[in-house]
Amino acid sequence: MIQLAGRNALVTGAGRGIGREIALTLAKAGANVGVCDLDEATAQSTAAEVQALGRSAKALRCDVSKASDIAEMVSAFSATFPTLDILVNNAGITRDGLIVRMKEEDWDLVLAINLKSAFLCCKEVARLMMKARTGKIVNIASVVGIMGNAGQANYSASKAGLIGLTKTLAREFASRNIQVNAVAPGFIQTAMTEKLSPQDKEKLASQIPMQRLGMPLDVANAVLFLASGLADYITGQVIPVDGGLVM
Ligand code: NAP
Repeated sequence: MIQLAGRNALVTGAGRGIGREIALTLAKAGANVGVCDLDEATAQSTAAEVQALGRSAKALRCDVSKASDIAEMVSAFSATFPTLDILVNNAGITRDGLIVRMKEEDWDLVLAINLKSAFLCCKEVARLMMKARTGKIVNIASVVGIMGNAGQANYSASKAGLIGLTKTLAREFASRNIQVNAVAPGFIQTAMTEKLSPQDKEKLASQIPMQRLGMPLDVANAVLFLASGLADYITGQVIPVDGGLVM
């Protein structure tokens, strides 16, 4: 059983979907959780679920594409929790379309929320982790950051960038005992994939060796492992959680 008792985690985009499941999974293992989301109501609802598990939680409304929001969020987190042991950069969006029709603002928005956010959060949190000489950062990338996907130039570029950021920070922070890894989910059943038609979902599932979409808990369990002491000698890695889609 993985134990995170006494650890304090910050999870972005934790109001719903994969982020919510990550927050609850870390809490079940004993961690206290700062629940960040753009939507204050959903952040509060996940925070209440964490508290119902007997852990401390703080809802933190934050737009992760804005440096000032992130600075305020980390300062509010630190006012409640004495350490920041685990950062999960999970918040992400899609604005799909073939490149010839993709608007420049959709490129900019996806890169800002999916990639720049992780740069800003890591930068803000690194000061605390470096001082403590311990920490775990887990970035939620995607298999499309590894293999590309027609109609997702902005999204796949943001996730490939996140993988590059992960490996670079793993190297920069290794001597400070901070491990930085990424999880690359395949197709997971959340609001993000709810937009797909039943036919598209069936087509997708047929390409997955395990013949089904994944669940948020499948991703959360990989994050739990990487956030725990069991992964102390693992850094700069990308773990696909995809039913065998990428191998
Ligand atoms: P989701 O259900 O759409 O949830 C995304 C969460 O991020 C929402 O709570 C959303 O808040 C929050 N968010 C969006 N923009 C934000 C911002 N600017 N600041 C703070 N929070 C923000 O998506 P999901 O499927 O759980 O995806 C979570 C992560 O996994 C994303 O990084 C995604 O790219 C990645 N992923 C998902 C899949 C999949 O198949 N689902 C596959 C690969 C990777 P609101 O509720 O306010 O919008």
